Amino acid sequence: MLLKIYQAGQPRLRQKAKDVTGARLKQQSTQELIDLMIKTLRDAPGVGLAAPQVGEALKIIVIEDQAKYHDVIPPAILKAQARHKVPLTVLVNPRLTITDKTDELWFEGCLSIDGYVAAVNRARAVKVEALDRHGRPVTVNANGWQARILQHELDHLNGVLYIDKMKQSSFMNLKNFNVLWRQALQAKIRRS
Ligand code: ZN
Repeated sequence: MLLKIYQAGQPRLRQKAKDVTGARLKQQSTQELIDLMIKTLRDAPGVGLAAPQVGEALKIIVIEDQAKYHDVIPPAILKAQARHKVPLTVLVNPRLTITDKTDELWFEGCLSIDGYVAAVNRARAVKVEALDRHGRPVTVNANGWQARILQHELDHLNGVLYIDKMKQSSFMNLKNFNVLWRQALQAKIRRS
């Protein structure tokens, strides 16, 4: 079974998620929700999913950036984005601290704004303190693309979507992104 991913306009995406209590985390229904979130993320496919995107106002996110997703991206872009493989990570009640506030401007998308992307400034590095799915404390220090994913997913827990933060004139559909922008970026990287 896969979960339905809510699309922009659905009020649930704008709710603030609630902390998951220790007792709730242990419940079978919560553990099943986490399993289904992982399955849904991989099926989409995507690199991050927050519980509000599947209609649950709980502070739970799953992220995973598989190496196979990188096959279609030129190595120069991966390097410029500091994008590397990120293992499956489940974060409960995450708290985010910016550790390098240098702005990084890249296009990003969202499973809840299907088919579109826009350029969004994100901090270069962050630290996230959270619990894992078993309630054990974890700390994730991330930079580059992983830091972007974490900032994007943490925003979902506050009812914030990337369209609230994007460079407005950069909003475009994926077709135009692939045709117009990807090639221009590659040319720019080749020149530099
Ligand atoms: Zn999203």
